[in-house]
Amino acid sequence: MKKILFFLLLLGQIGNSQTQYPQDYFRNPMEIPIVLAGTFAELRPNHFHAGLDIKTQHREGLNVHTAAPGYVSRIKISHFGYGKALYVTHPNGYTTVYAHLQKFSDKIEKYIKECQYQKESYQVEVFPTPDELPVSQDEIIALSGNTGGSYAPHLHFEIRDNEERPMNPMLFGLDVKDSRKPTINGIFAYAKNEKSHVNGSQKRIELRLIPTAGSDFNVEEIEALGDIGFGINTYDRLDEAPNKNGVNSIQCFYNGSKHFEIDFKRFSYSETKHINRLIDFENYKTKHNYIQKLFVEQNNPLSLYKDVENNGYVTVLDSTSSVYKIRVKDFKDNDVWVTIPIKGKKLDTPEPIDDIKPMHYALPGKATNLEKGNISVYIPQGTFYDDTYLDFDVKADTLLLGKDIVPLQKSFTISYDISNYLDEDKEKLYIAELTGYYKKPRYIGTSRQGETLSAKSKSLGTYTLESDLVPPTITPVNFYDGKWMSNATELKVKIGDKDSGISNYRATINGKWILMEYEYKKGTLTYNFEDNIISDTENNLKVIVTDNVGNSSTFEATFFRK
Ligand SMILES: [Zn+2]
Repeated sequence: MKKILFFLLLLGQIGNSQTQYPQDYFRNPMEIPIVLAGTFAELRPNHFHAGLDIKTQHREGLNVHTAAPGYVSRIKISHFGYGKALYVTHPNGYTTVYAHLQKFSDKIEKYIKECQYQKESYQVEVFPTPDELPVSQDEIIALSGNTGGSYAPHLHFEIRDNEERPMNPMLFGLDVKDSRKPTINGIFAYAKNEKSHVNGSQKRIELRLIPTAGSDFNVEEIEALGDIGFGINTYDRLDEAPNKNGVNSIQCFYNGSKHFEIDFKRFSYSETKHINRLIDFENYKTKHNYIQKLFVEQNNPLSLYKDVENNGYVTVLDSTSSVYKIRVKDFKDNDVWVTIPIKGKKLDTPEPIDDIKPMHYALPGKATNLEKGNISVYIPQGTFYDDTYLDFDVKADTLLLGKDIVPLQKSFTISYDISNYLDEDKEKLYIAELTGYYKKPRYIGTSRQGETLSAKSKSLGTYTLESDLVPPTITPVNFYDGKWMSNATELKVKIGDKDSGISNYRATINGKWILMEYEYKKGTLTYNFEDNIISDTENNLKVIVTDNVGNSSTFEATFFRK
């Protein structure tokens, strides 16, 4: 039996090794060595990073090649997120993704601009058929850029399996230099319930790291009892870049036996939001760093866990000695060990738990309705991971709904009865979340039905009603009324809206719709004269910008071109 088990384990090992993924099939999509600003499954706000962020030497406009032959199966252009993104499907079933692009290759650019002009929209998403945009080995498909939610030029590159699940592209033999070990920033201990403690505490405690002669760590012996778990703050630095990247796996051992593992090899999009269940969310929101919990609590559907014993908790008995070890590995198998000696000790007087709790209680398995004054809140079933005490109060138009330190799986709905407002004021109202230290109002997608304004949110916090009376601003950047622009390659305006923010824009020249690319980080709209929309000498540009409550501004100017 043991032999069979060993054989099965061996098979499992082979199955997990890189041989099952085609090696040398996908090339480096860039012409420069791969240096990473971000690794696969790295921890990001509300998601795991789905690919590699390949640095582009602080520049835009570098050639991006298809990683392998195939066909363009999807083109998506959005103001936020991936910006200009290209998806190439390969004959072996994998799809590669290239995002934050500046521009596509001529044939793809022509294809997508036709769609944009037809739909009269910069934002588009299309799914070309296999014969429309085939790409051959090494073909240049785009130029790298910084579009969408990218804050420095880079190429975001993904490899997805045939079920659209992003995988670590490094599994396919892409080479990245990494000779450095992961960094351990902090080790934490947690008591699972009121019957357990660590060093007499039932709250999260940080353990003091003691470097060993090698490059590993010990922590001071802890005294504990009952079910306890651990947490780790760690990152990995690769060679040739200072970026703090994600690690490849975290393994835990209790008294020499494998006890728990997080393996960042692959995940699916439906689970990426549950990163907030993996991390200590309260710590993340208050201290702005990531502690990964090395135990699995209820309602955690993440598939990254492996070999989990006792949900990752260890059970410490009185007057026992045990050892918990953590091994953090990067993709190149550089590893660091942390050893935690544990002594079982019963407490004489357990620390009392604070028993002042808020009035309201929300359960994961039940929908919750809260109502006071002109505000109601509907929290659907399955919103919370845990049974949660919830602060709820309404003061005038301000809703206090707990604190943004509890992770949510779903959005809840806030509704305001606005029948006590004057009709002309109702038009300008929106629901805002009060964020940050200064409680700055931030517009959240508000819709109106009769006398009710409602909005959805996925974070607890403070909300209020705001009104936006000021229409957007539109300012020309590289021209003025009456200017000759024969040699200009583009037409640029700056747009902005102070309160509710920009909802949409529309630009025409001589009455014909023109494609203006919106760059939200700079607040610019840019038209490229290569689009060849105009042939007249005298041209009238008209730009209309509308904010989220419907205030709109119109800008008009005449320019000449020969
Ligand atoms: Zn990225």
